[in-house]
This record gives sequence, C-alpha cells and structure tokens, in this order.
Amino acid sequence: MSLTIPTDLLPVDGRFGCGPSKVRPAALTALATRGATWMGTSHRQAPVREVVRRIRTGLASLYDAPEGYEVVLGNGGSTQFWDVASFCLIQQRASVSVFGEFTSKFASAIARTPWLDEPTVAEVAPGSVILPRVADADVYAWAHNETATGAAAPIHRIPGSDPQALTLIDATSSAGAMPVDLADVDAYYFAPQKGFSSDGGLWCALLSPAAIERSARLTQERWIPDSLNLQLAVTNSRADQTLNTPALATLFLMAEQLDWLLASGGLAYAERRTHASASHLYAWADAHPLASPFVSEPYRSPVVGTIDFDASVDAAALAATLRANNIVDVEPYRKLGRNQLRIGMFPAVEPSDVEALTACIDWVLERTVA
Ligand SMILES: *Cc1c(COP(=O)(O)O)cnc(C)c1O
Repeated sequence: MSLTIPTDLLPVDGRFGCGPSKVRPAALTALATRGATWMGTSHRQAPVREVVRRIRTGLASLYDAPEGYEVVLGNGGSTQFWDVASFCLIQQRASVSVFGEFTSKFASAIARTPWLDEPTVAEVAPGSVILPRVADADVYAWAHNETATGAAAPIHRIPGSDPQALTLIDATSSAGAMPVDLADVDAYYFAPQKGFSSDGGLWCALLSPAAIERSARLTQERWIPDSLNLQLAVTNSRADQTLNTPALATLFLMAEQLDWLLASGGLAYAERRTHASASHLYAWADAHPLASPFVSEPYRSPVVGTIDFDASVDAAALAATLRANNIVDVEPYRKLGRNQLRIGMFPAVEPSDVEALTACIDWVLERTVA
C-alpha cells in the first residue's frame, strides 16, 4: 500500500540529493533559451570561451581570491583531481585525514601511487571530524565537507607544518555554499554538480602561487599523462579553454549559478540560505522523538544534513515513500549503512522546501509508525 502525501504539504521542488543536486529551474530555462544556439558550438571559439571566462572571474570574485591565485579547470570531476594531485602536487608524502568515504577515497588513491611514500593518515569514525597530523609531509589534505556523513571541517593551515607544504581541500560539496579564506589553502578543488547546482564531469581548482609553482616543477620532473597534467590545465585555463572538449551544459549552468550567487550577495547570501535550511532541519530532528542529527556540534554541515531514525522507523521505506511522492534522493550514503536520511540543502534549495520536507516526513511517520 503506497501513501499519497497531500499536495499542499509537498515541497515545490522535491530534489534534495547530494550530488547531482538540484539545478535551479531558472538556470535550466536559460540553457533552453539563451543556450539553445550556443550548445553544440566550438569550445575553441569566443562564445564558449566567454562562459569559461565568466566562471574563472566569477570564482575569483566569489572567493575574493588573493593576488596570484588562479582558477583552473579540467575534465573528469573531483575524482580526477585526486589523481592530478597525486601526479602534480604531492612530491613525496602527504598527511591526510579520513572521516568518511570521500576523504577515504583520496587517502587510498595516494596510498596506491607507486612513487609516493605511504601517507600519514589520521582517521576518526564517520560522523565526526579529524584534521591531518603534523608529519614530515609536503601536502596536507582533507575535505571541507564530508558529503558521505554530513560533517563539516574547519579550514586552516596545520600548526607546526612545514611552511613549504601545500594544503589541498576537497570542496566538492562546500564550494558555492560555505565560506573559506583562500589564504589558508593552496588548492580548493571541486566539481560543480553539488553546491554549484550544475552538472558533473568537470573539476575546478582555485590554486595558490605555491601550488602552481609545485605543479610546474613536478610536471617537469615526472612522466605525467596529458589528462592528469595540471600544468597543461593551467595553460589552457589561462586561455579560457580546457585541454579537451568539456561538457558545455555543465559550464553554462555553473556560470549561471555563479552569476546568481554574485548578484544575490555572494557567499554571505549562500551562507544565510543554507543556515536557514539547516537550522530548521536540525532543530526539527533535535525536537523529534524518533529522529536525531547524526553529527554532533560543532561539525553539523550546513549543506548535507544526516538524520538518524529510531529503530521503530524503517528509514529506507520512508525514503521509498517520499520518492513515490516525487521527493527524491534523501537516501543515506550507500556505504554508511545507517537507518538514516541524508538531505542536500545547497543554496539552490529553497529553505521553505526543507520545511515542507520535514512536514512530509512527519505526515508519513504518523501513518507508518505504531
Ligand atoms: C561528490 C564528491 C566527490 C566526487 O566527485 P566526482 O565529481 O563524482 O568525482 C569527491 N569529494 C567529495 C567531498 C564529494 O562530495
């Protein structure tokens, strides 16, 4: 028997996924109108390069990039950037922290790179946060927001680290949503299908002069496949291009989201919106007899909310009921294995829709839990 949630309770938009995430309807309309004669044109010609330029200048402006920082783009998403980093940014040894599946994947990619030393790994159980330990390392790396668990980490240089060491931050689910001081980071990298409300397949990195210098040196010293060569990406990006053909719709939607954010007040605006969504969700869960936030303060993410349910609730069945009512992608991260829902609250999501979502969950729980 399937439950039909009353229409007046439903969110206007039922997309709450954590990647790919909700794309703003206005951006899709722009793609279907202004983009209609632009899609299917050469990425080497001015119209597409103009959009890449909007992304590069827009990101530098959104993040108030310090002097000498550059915005670099390439194909293959954040996963590809992990390999780019192993080839072009880590010299000998990295010190990393692991607090969920995504941070774990980068640690494992580094550990399997034959010419690098075994990384120093600081690990904590999912739901909390740990930063890398001081070590004899030339790179320190962690994630701003662990998308698998909904835990957000502080960003600063690791006290006591070698001043030449680079700090690499996986910003895949924080970029476009959470503020950061780039002076504390040498590579703030991400793919645009989460906070930037675009589609996948692209990686972007805000790189410090020290990161660009390291990459220029290592790409001279090592054999590096072109698709992983950060220096080639730097050279192409400076010309508002990518090494090989990018997904044009991804570029277009990302530029639209950047324009929207910048026109609305930048990261301060994004922060206000995600805070409105997240404070509602966590207050609702804190007060609920059958629900509780998975992550403890001060690590609760403003963009990825993970809510545990009492054993009397079948969270998978709850997610299936919501899905049947067009509220989609609130299933927990597949490998976490908890009785949980995970809710994307990126800037594109309306805070009023998060309120509607919790009302819908309440409505379903009232009818399914004895
Ligand atoms: C989604 C995600 C990734 C992987 O991104 P892809 O573009 O699919 O490679 C990496 N790190 C974090 C923190 C993520 O959320």
